[in-house]
Amino acid sequence: MSTIQERLDHIRRQIPDGVTLVVVSKYHSVEEIQQAYDAGVRDFGENRVQELVSKVDQLPKDIRWHLIGSLQRNKVKYIAPFVTSIQSVDSLALYQEVERRATQQNREIDCLIEVFVAQEETKSGLPYDEVEAFFAMLREMQAQGGSLIRLRGLMGMATHTDCRETVRAEFAKLRTLFQRLKEGVMHDVEYFDTLSMGMSEDWSLAVEEGSTMIRVGTAIMGPRSYT
Ligand SMILES: *Cc1c(COP(=O)(O)O)cnc(C)c1O
Repeated sequence: MSTIQERLDHIRRQIPDGVTLVVVSKYHSVEEIQQAYDAGVRDFGENRVQELVSKVDQLPKDIRWHLIGSLQRNKVKYIAPFVTSIQSVDSLALYQEVERRATQQNREIDCLIEVFVAQEETKSGLPYDEVEAFFAMLREMQAQGGSLIRLRGLMGMATHTDCRETVRAEFAKLRTLFQRLKEGVMHDVEYFDTLSMGMSEDWSLAVEEGSTMIRVGTAIMGPRSYT
């Protein structure tokens, strides 16, 4: 049995410079998260608001928390006071609620637009073909004054399959879209720099395809216990 520290070291050695590792700590205890923190991790991802909120106060204040799971509008208010990024923005209504709560808190919140590229019906995200128009609309809204949302990039999940070519093609699709936005509607936004893709099973493929942020849970924290 390896430890969190050992698994972390193993993965860190393989991650190129410029790729941020977010350790996904959902379903793991505060004690386990503290172990990863003590090994130097500062970026953690959680996918459920209630669980995240219950952990935050028990852990160091310099942790950067990333909300990576689908988010209901009525729960944004609970995380707005402290969350670093919301990676699962996939509707105008959710975007506007984040803006409203960021304004209330008078703090910036980084947002990624989640894009649907997988071949599974269960995966959330904005349809691929709608993403550019969506960004154009958000930028227009931001231009009208004082947005506290920093639109930093895209998040996506590949199909859960052993077929590496399927996974690679989906990541490549995301990268192409990211690049198009970077050269197009987001060209003058210097912080538009984040392509969040890659999990325990597929992060090295994602990095090969241009990921700048990987979200790794099981491969570092160990299996999740859902009890
Ligand atoms: C759970 C989760 C991860 C991490 O999954 P692992 O397979 O445990 O690495 C990454 N991204 C999202 C959106 C998740 O929900």
